[in-house]
Amino acid sequence: MTGFDTFAMVDWSGGNQRPVKPSADAIWACVVRHGQAEEPVYLRHRGLAECWLEGLIEVELTAGRRLCLGFDFPFGYPVGFAQALTGSDDPLMLWDWFEARIEDAPGHNNRFDLAGKINRKFGGTGPFWANGLKRDIDGLGRTKAGYTNPFPERRVVEGLARGSFTCWQMAGAGAVGSQVMMGLPVLARLRRRFAGQVAVWPFEVLDTPVALVEIWPSLINRAVMEEMQRLVTPIKDAVQVRLVALAMAGIDPDRIQRMLDVDAPEEGWILGQSYEDELNAAARASVADGPVPPPLRNDCFALPTGVEWTPVDQALRLLRDRLKVVVGSKAMGLTQALGHVLSADVVAQRSNPPVANSAVDGYGFAGAIPPGAHVMPLQAGRAAAGVPFEGVVAPGKALRVLTGAAIPPGMETVILEEDVNLKGDKIAFNGPLKQGANARRAGEDVMASKVVLEAGRRLTPADMALLSAVGVGRVETYAPLRVAVLSTGDELVEAGQVAGPGKIYDANRPMLLAMLEKFGFQGVDLGRVPDDRATLRAALDTAAEQADVILTSGGASAGDEDHVSALLSEAGALQAWRIAIKPGRPLALAMWQGTPVFGLPGNPVAAMICTLVFARPAMGLLAGEGWREPVGFEVSADFDKRKKAGRREYLRARVRGGVVEVFGSEGSGRISGLSWAEGLVELPDGALDIRRGDLVRYIPYGSFGL
Ligand code: AMP
Ligand code: MG
Repeated sequence: MTGFDTFAMVDWSGGNQRPVKPSADAIWACVVRHGQAEEPVYLRHRGLAECWLEGLIEVELTAGRRLCLGFDFPFGYPVGFAQALTGSDDPLMLWDWFEARIEDAPGHNNRFDLAGKINRKFGGTGPFWANGLKRDIDGLGRTKAGYTNPFPERRVVEGLARGSFTCWQMAGAGAVGSQVMMGLPVLARLRRRFAGQVAVWPFEVLDTPVALVEIWPSLINRAVMEEMQRLVTPIKDAVQVRLVALAMAGIDPDRIQRMLDVDAPEEGWILGQSYEDELNAAARASVADGPVPPPLRNDCFALPTGVEWTPVDQALRLLRDRLKVVVGSKAMGLTQALGHVLSADVVAQRSNPPVANSAVDGYGFAGAIPPGAHVMPLQAGRAAAGVPFEGVVAPGKALRVLTGAAIPPGMETVILEEDVNLKGDKIAFNGPLKQGANARRAGEDVMASKVVLEAGRRLTPADMALLSAVGVGRVETYAPLRVAVLSTGDELVEAGQVAGPGKIYDANRPMLLAMLEKFGFQGVDLGRVPDDRATLRAALDTAAEQADVILTSGGASAGDEDHVSALLSEAGALQAWRIAIKPGRPLALAMWQGTPVFGLPGNPVAAMICTLVFARPAMGLLAGEGWREPVGFEVSADFDKRKKAGRREYLRARVRGGVVEVFGSEGSGRISGLSWAEGLVELPDGALDIRRGDLVRYIPYGSFGL
């Protein structure tokens, strides 16, 4: 038999520690099913680990999946030890020998005493060494002083595994002696409990659904170190078990078969020993970021020649056609993924509901019920959520069933308990009742293997529920789009500081950074830059290095102090877009060292509206969200307004009492109006004479993502 569906890898612990907080000192395990990794599991002590392992094996057996279950300790001792201790060279007899003698409870075990006892049997100077306890143990030295070992120091495989520890060393950093002694009894019990379904590699033929294998995470140390550097607070053991499981799952089954093909009937072997390169490559590939897409072209903002004023729709179309994703992607656990953008479609791992279940508390039976009064005998037992009824519901009988309980065989229809009179062991109720009433069909919400969310989706709280329900624990997401923000102008002072005459507070930068946060992008605050070309040049260089997009505000016109547009035209392939929009002029689009720049107007009102109308959808494309248009709707105007043809206009607006009102002044310096408003009224390019009561298009700020 070749091919495993599930790889679960365990980093064992031989010690007594029971840290409550996940730490490296206890047991870590990670399951990869059909190539999908679950979050690593932290198991505080061996008792918990044993329960978890039993549960895992049961789940995999029930689902008919083949499980490769790996442990990071030797399955056998150097040649001769088993024979000398048990009278047989069968390593599995040695497992049972230890199982009969090792006592293990959280906080106490007898491993050092047993090691001393074994040593005394062989003259008291070995093979075990390093007593880790405070009290002395006869026959077990604290150090290697006076140590002699009647058996080989190392197994054959350990001669190849550089840096591995011997199974004779009972204490000290990295010692595996205690791990083996405290691990083999657990494995011996699992073998017994799942007799006939578990085989031990390389001692037995692997023709069972579960294979126990020996692993050594140091084989993929290179990949582990790289992954540790990418993570914020990595726990090495957790990274190791995840990567070993992912690596094995990522390797061709034929190659795994090759790795399994060893001859080590007494000592055992490390799976993958001498295949380090292949394992490291598979581990790296399993966590690699998706390819980072090529940069945008330098001419991507070029406007068709001869165009005087570009209408808003045409400008948007140009952006939509020219821009594309610029961020890489990587996998992450669902718990971290809120607000991130999916870089690949997500497929349901399981149906929702996974099995048919009851929608109400009540009584269930077979078939439909005709009109009229009915009496039905009750069957003993009940079905509850998480506690399924094990039997079959007999024809003509009803069974007590609770909301969420799996519908047992023989039941199709459920009647609400409020509609029933319970008398002794019978229920009385009135029909009719349709077959399947009050029962939810398996998969009626979502079917397993169907796409539940598509690439480009920014994950919402509701998505967390959906993905969890269909068994998805990890998703592929785009790296957040990094957006640098800088304000330009000699007149600007930081809010909260003293502003001298002629100075104003920088309002755009706090606004833009806040908008970016709401949009789900990563703002990079590059501060204020005076109207000075060299400083601006340096700031743009930094921005291009640190971000995927640059937003500047101010200095974008063609005046004396408009250094942004001057500099961008010199070196940044500037395109001053003369867009037919009010408020909003001017908007400068350019590329600075391969990074797109949105040169926003200095007026805060125009800066905000240009960001909402142009920069936001453009950045959505760069971030992998695709092109998203804000949802607006028609509302009766609570104002009169005459508008000339030629420019699209945006008015600061809000809805009150079912009608939309606009801010008293259209002046583009009126920041209070931005704050007063809760959205924008969008007036089309043509001339218009709006009267109170006419329908106008209103777009709430929320529709833009604010
Ligand atoms: P500019 O585009 O640089 O000519 O600026 C147009 C107007 O917006 C001027 O009145 C500037 O003082 C003002 N302005 C520019 N940048 C900001 C800013 N960051 N915060 C507030 N007002 C600004
Ligand atoms: Mg200026």
